[in-house]
Amino acid sequence: MKVGYTYSTISKLPKELRPEDVGKQISVEGIVSRISEVLEYPFKVTFVCQTCGHEIVAEYKPWEKPTKPKKCEECNSKNIKIDPLKSFSRRYQLLRIQDPPEALTEGVPPTHVDGIVIDSLVGSLKLGARVRVTGVLTAASRNSSGNRGFVLKNVLEVTHVDIIGKESPGDSVTDQDIRRFHEEVQKKDFKQRIIQSMIPIRGYDSLKEGLLLAVLGGAETWLPDGTKLRRNIHVLIVDEQQKASHILSPIVEMMPRVLYVEGSTIQRSELVAKTVRDDLTMERVIQAGPLVLANEGVFILEDLDKLSKLDKESLAKVMEQEVAFLPKADVVGKFSVKTTVIAVAAPKSGVIDKSKSLASQLNVTLGLLNAFDLVYIMSNATSGEQAKNERLYSISPLWASRESYYDREFIRKFIAYARSLNPVLSV
Ligand SMILES: [Zn+2]
Repeated sequence: MKVGYTYSTISKLPKELRPEDVGKQISVEGIVSRISEVLEYPFKVTFVCQTCGHEIVAEYKPWEKPTKPKKCEECNSKNIKIDPLKSFSRRYQLLRIQDPPEALTEGVPPTHVDGIVIDSLVGSLKLGARVRVTGVLTAASRNSSGNRGFVLKNVLEVTHVDIIGKESPGDSVTDQDIRRFHEEVQKKDFKQRIIQSMIPIRGYDSLKEGLLLAVLGGAETWLPDGTKLRRNIHVLIVDEQQKASHILSPIVEMMPRVLYVEGSTIQRSELVAKTVRDDLTMERVIQAGPLVLANEGVFILEDLDKLSKLDKESLAKVMEQEVAFLPKADVVGKFSVKTTVIAVAAPKSGVIDKSKSLASQLNVTLGLLNAFDLVYIMSNATSGEQAKNERLYSISPLWASRESYYDREFIRKFIAYARSLNPVLSV
């Protein structure tokens, strides 16, 4: 008998999977966007005929429902029982791997592949983790109740897990690129050049510098008293002009790992995670929200003030502690979320009165406001030096005509490379 495995070491994104991959061993790379609690399924069941002692052994997959044979195939007796000493169950977890944010095309929803891990791999995957999982892609089916229809979908039976974790600059950054980065960084006006190339807009110098810091990140530092300084630098833009998106959209294009979301589109309490049912097994699974899908990258959030109260609280916690807690979820309910947050909020009255506290003028709690390291106001003032420098006079003609020192490819690679190190701010 020939064993029908085709070995392959090619690593694919979920969106690159094809029907012909079914039955093959493949590696899939992406973000863990769904995970279940630890579950159990009957793996091997031994049925014994109580009349003649004949044994029928059946093996199952997690999505299959075990059924007792109607009668003994030897003596036709209907008196059949399970032998508990010759039957085993196995632990498993359901999971989903989704395309990472940087692989998404605007307007096209992310694709995914569902999978299962069993036995020793249970507990090895966390929501929001970047992973490469290897296994055999199987067409799994489950009868739907009431009629002769059935659910069929591809499931990756995972046999090996690699956590990609800390950012790597990726294969696209060559040694030659790295040599050029080191040369360019020596130049006196490098910071100005990279900022201007990254966000080719006149004025807003301090804001643009803050955004560069957020995008590059800092170094995780342990203080002598045992407290940890996180590496992520969170930026809040208080936007009187409703023009922050002009500054942020170039970042969305340049950043290797960025997720851009409008706060008003996030359903209540779904920023971090929500519970849904797996359509194959009907088991409960935790589905990652946008903040978790942007793990190890940058989450750009417009309309921060329009988030629900609950989501504002969970956002503040994740930003400060880099950990998410989900109540009612034992095993999968605590996981690390290292997302850099760049958020935009509009003042309640349209303008900021600098004689009053900022918190009282934003629809944002003090706790959440404090979680931001840098806060900028895009002022609507129409007179004075600041207004002259920092107003966006006309966006479109400026774009093409501005001096841009580095192209998009250079910036993308530079950011990816810098984030793979632990940048330290030199003053
Ligand atoms: Zn029998």
